[in-house]
Amino acid sequence: DKRLGLVIDLDTCVGCHACAVNCKEWNTGAGASPLSDADAYGADVSGAWLNRIHTFEVTPADAPAQIVHFPKSCLHCDDAPCVTVCPTGASHKRSEDGIVLVTEDMCIGCGLCAWACPYGAREMDPVENVMKKCTLCVDRIYDEVLPEEDRIPACVRTCPSNARHFGDFNDPGSHVSRLVADRGGIELMPEMGTKPVNRYLPPRPKARAPAAGPVAAT
Ligand code: SF4
Ligand code: SF4
Ligand code: SF4
Repeated sequence: DKRLGLVIDLDTCVGCHACAVNCKEWNTGAGASPLSDADAYGADVSGAWLNRIHTFEVTPADAPAQIVHFPKSCLHCDDAPCVTVCPTGASHKRSEDGIVLVTEDMCIGCGLCAWACPYGAREMDPVENVMKKCTLCVDRIYDEVLPEEDRIPACVRTCPSNARHFGDFNDPGSHVSRLVADRGGIELMPEMGTKPVNRYLPPRPKARAPAAGPVAAT
């Protein structure tokens, strides 16, 4: 079985929000191919955001302060509390690829999963009154009608700085597995015991700017 997920590179993310916007465009059904349809950008902007970018200033001990942009969406946990607490079985984790999904016509909008998720990765759709979350773009990645290069999540396809990577963590030779092996993928909040699939690559410390030299007298 596969264990599909994302690697998000905090070193190269520039906080442009393109992934968040295209995630919403794709998942609110605004056009069959919003990535290539300029008209889609005028479409419905209500509904939930399944991917959000948070921005922090961090100050490493031996390096200058730097801005870190932190994209956050569902991490497709192996031991997902959102699934455990769901009273109807709407929330579930697929055995074949590990994607955590919500069967929307089984969701009663009780919000228990949102309380249980330690990452704040769930969002109630204010229009449909059902719980939404990142689907790992399950409707794209298996869609054989799409060109090969589009059979990846919309956010990965969109990111202009190559900060988002998609693949199978159960395949040691996959791009995502190699990235984690090379750069040490961070597991978010391991103390929660949720075993998230998604990994974050740490930002590299930035070099200090050279000190300004003396101003030449004129
Ligand atoms: Fe569930 Fe939250 Fe884990 Fe996603 S990140 S699987 S919503 S607990
Ligand atoms: Fe949104 Fe799809 Fe990316 Fe998940 S994988 S954050 S649903 S674009
Ligand atoms: Fe960061 Fe890429 Fe998302 Fe822009 S599109 S916010 S660079 S992850």
